[in-house]
Amino acid sequence: MTFETLGLSAELLKAVLEEGYNTPTPIQLQAVPAVLAGGDLMACAQTGTGKTAGFTLPLLQLLSKKAVAPRRQVRALILTPTRELAAQVGESVTQYGKYLPLKSAIIFGGVNINPQAKLLRQGVDIIIATPGRLLDHISQGNVNLSTVEILVLDEADRMLDMGFIHDIKKLLAMLPKERQNLLFSATFSNEIKTLAHSLLRSPKKIEVAPHNPAAESVSQLVYRVDNRRKRFLLSHLISSENWQQVLVFTRTKHGANRLSEQLSDDGIPSAAIHGNKSQSARTKALDDFKNGQKRVLVATDIAARGLDIDQLPHVVNFELPNVPEDYVHRIGRTGRAGCEGKAVSLVCIDENQLLHQIERLLKRSIPQATMSGYEPDPSIKAEPIPNGRSQQQHRGSSPRRPQQPSRGGRERENSSRGFRDSRR
Ligand code: AMP
Repeated sequence: MTFETLGLSAELLKAVLEEGYNTPTPIQLQAVPAVLAGGDLMACAQTGTGKTAGFTLPLLQLLSKKAVAPRRQVRALILTPTRELAAQVGESVTQYGKYLPLKSAIIFGGVNINPQAKLLRQGVDIIIATPGRLLDHISQGNVNLSTVEILVLDEADRMLDMGFIHDIKKLLAMLPKERQNLLFSATFSNEIKTLAHSLLRSPKKIEVAPHNPAAESVSQLVYRVDNRRKRFLLSHLISSENWQQVLVFTRTKHGANRLSEQLSDDGIPSAAIHGNKSQSARTKALDDFKNGQKRVLVATDIAARGLDIDQLPHVVNFELPNVPEDYVHRIGRTGRAGCEGKAVSLVCIDENQLLHQIERLLKRSIPQATMSGYEPDPSIKAEPIPNGRSQQQHRGSSPRRPQQPSRGGRERENSSRGFRDSRR
């Protein structure tokens, strides 16, 4: 199967070819004809499957079939949960649509509203937006959604997780009743099914296997290590194995900042990316990481959503995620498009239960190892804590000194206390 056989126009085929895509991915094979046919769609697909092109290509084709009105009107609305995802989807729209006379606007918060307002007032065909900022523009009278023909909810599960349901409902109420709806979600929880039920009319259902973490292209390994030694083991792995581009996940924004400082102290240029950072700081961190100025990007799950970093060789779970599905998202960042990837998880005794849940989801166990000099102290035991997780407690003599102290000597305990879900 080729892109030609999917029925895409010459302008889109040319742009796709320039992107270097030869064959459509499974989600594209199913989504492109379904969207071109004009009906609603409910697609279960994760980042890394090629889902963005799966909805963007047919959307552009449908819009380009009609001549652009003298005064441009918003004809397609793509809603995303995060700024990064909006930026990346917007980039795809620009790239795939570069031979079409369509205009798009990327709208998200955390940046000056005025240039966006000017662009919207001039008229655009496509808006790619996070819900909150779009509502601000509507209340300022910069844009009106009464002419939207196609609505896309991208990563709808994340939007619900992030509490956007009320904003989404407000926006839906401003759209015309007659329209095409495309819903993309990585998971199909009951909440998503309820949303889909209220939004979609006899949708075509598409499900593609998630970017398969069990695929040979991603090798997974768990290092058993005590919590307080994780950062030393991480520095050791990055240096001794000469990893050049590493995406590291922490659970909290604070943890991301701290780890990035510690790694930098160890002589490994690092940056943190999370929701508390300004948009310009996030963009700079991502650019520095992409162009090799920073070797490590430390991110929380939500900040990493939608980050499109091609051919990422290493992903590290500094802490396992509370939600097993996030593990699949995280390691889906590596081993893309046939490239070899390595996903390493640093797991302390407190996290046994989380590891167990992840392995149950994967339906396989992940190989485990210890690193010489960083083996867990057998006297450290996990104890249940009130919220059901466990808290590492040391019994017996004082902890052994880590064998690779930081150069800056700034050694802090990485307590498992106070783990929060950074998404809320
Ligand atoms: P997505 O799942 O939309 O985030 O896409 C993941 C990555 O796959 C992006 O870097 C795309 O540029 C890339 N991609 C999308 N479609 C194809 C294709 N047919 N062939 C090769 N790469 C693709």
